[in-house]
Parts: sequence; structure tokens; C-alpha cells
Amino acid sequence: MPQTHRQPAIFRFAPSPNGRLHLGHALSAFLNHDMARAAEGTFLIRIEDIDRTRCTPELERGILEDLAWLGLSSDRPIRRQSDHLEDYQAALQRLAELGVTYPSFMTRGDVRNHVMAAQAEGLAWPRDPDGAPLYPAIDRLRDAAEREARLKRGDRHAIRLDVGKAIAMAGPDLDWLETGEGVPRRVAANPAAWGDIVLSRSDAPGSYALSVVVDDAAQGVTDVVRGQDLYHATAIQRLLQVLLGLPEPVYHHHRLVLDEEGRKLSKSSNSTALAELRTQGLTPSDIRRLVSL
Ligand code: GLU
Repeated sequence: MPQTHRQPAIFRFAPSPNGRLHLGHALSAFLNHDMARAAEGTFLIRIEDIDRTRCTPELERGILEDLAWLGLSSDRPIRRQSDHLEDYQAALQRLAELGVTYPSFMTRGDVRNHVMAAQAEGLAWPRDPDGAPLYPAIDRLRDAAEREARLKRGDRHAIRLDVGKAIAMAGPDLDWLETGEGVPRRVAANPAAWGDIVLSRSDAPGSYALSVVVDDAAQGVTDVVRGQDLYHATAIQRLLQVLLGLPEPVYHHHRLVLDEEGRKLSKSSNSTALAELRTQGLTPSDIRRLVSL
């Protein structure tokens, strides 16, 4: 039997510069770095700043300063999403050609009102794995003439994935290899749970789901190591990878660092911010201890 050689391992820590790093990020960054070193692989830092409404250059500088203080630097030049908008556009174009996208004109407020009205009538509106109400998909049912007219008129719109069509095209056996819970196992992916997600908005030309799969493929990432909070998001990412013909990384979702009340840490809380802990005189080895590494 031919021997199979695994390609050189490439890991990435991919923070969004919409706040300073906290202990949860430190755990993720250390794990990526340590696993890359153990595999004699590559450790990358990627700046996920596609959402220009929330990400700022100052916060990016702060994040890189926090990482440098932890002793972590990227083995290759840092990829910044805002430098690669044409890559996301090309992926979006490919999905449009496959016929699995449509323009949606409903604003967030329209969606909220629609869901509230349905709930007032006693309907239990379905929610995604993060608890947000699923998109009503009214725009998916619009007839082509109305859609064209509104696009021609220049109405603001987002591009959404027709998840039902996308799943039909990708096939029913969508899954991923998960190594975050001990014995590696294949997990069945359920992208339908997310509904018709946004792929691109006028203020963010690639959604998180779209840009993350494009970036992981562009950087040859073999191992995605990130918090449990992104576990279910993997389903949509696998769906997009199959549609776009991109390679499948191995996924490792790690435990989250929780606050005293058992809640996930937030970027707005100062007490666990690395910058704050540093000014209190803690060292990077203290941080490792604090996150139980
Ligand atoms: N940018 C994402 C975050 O800061 C992480 C994305 C990922 O690791 O896939 O939560």
C-alpha cells in the first residue's frame, strides 16, 4: 500500500481587531503556537478585519502588541482580510454562478419586526445555534422581475446563501474531522441550522463564514484550532468549502476560558484583558498558568 504523508502542518490564530485580547484569546494563541511547534509546522497570525464597522488599526496594533508580549509572532507575513477583498468577491461570484446566492433587501430591523410579528401570533420562530432568529427568507421567494427592478434601482442589499439549494448541491454527507474532544471523530455537519446566512453586505464585502474559508485555503491551513464557541459554525464552513472546491482542514475546538460566573469572556471586560494583566505586573508564564496550560 502506498504510504501517505501528511502535508506540513499549518496552524493559524485569527483574531478580529474589534477589541483587545483577553485570557480566552491567549489560550487559543498558545495552543495554536504550541501545536504548530509540536508538529514542526507553521504558526500564522491572521487579522480578521473584514468588518470595517467594528475593526480599527489601533486595535490591530494593540492585538499585535499583546501577542508580541506573549512571545508569539507569525512565521510568515501577517495576512489582513482588508487587503484581500477581491478574493472574497471572486468566491462570491463563484457561488453566484452555482446559483446558490440571492440578494436580500430586508434590513436587520425588517427581520426583527417580521419575527416579532410571527411570535406575537404564537409561532415559535426557529433560531440558529447561537440563538439568533433564522432569516425569514422572504427575499428568496421574490420573483426575478421584482428582484431585477430593485437591483436596478440601486436598493441596498446583502447577498445570502440559499442554504437548502447549497446543501442539495454539496450532497447529504457533509461532516468534519474533530480532534478537540480526545479521540478524533467525524462530526455530522448541519448547515441548515444556520438558515440563509449573509455572505456579503455593503459594509462588509465578505462575511465571517466566507472569508474564513477563503483565507484558510489561501494560506494552506491544515489545522483550525479555535474555541468551542465556533464549533457549530464549522458546518457552514464545510458547506462553503465543498461548493468552492477548497481543501478540508482538521478542526480542533478547545475549551473556553470562563469568568467567575461561568460566562464566556467578552472583549469589553477589562479584568481579563491581557494589556491590563500586563500593567498589573503579570508575566507571560503567569498567563499560561491562568489559562491552565
Ligand atoms: N476571527 C474570529 C474571532 O476572533 C476567529 C475565527 C476562527 O478562528 O475561525 O472570533
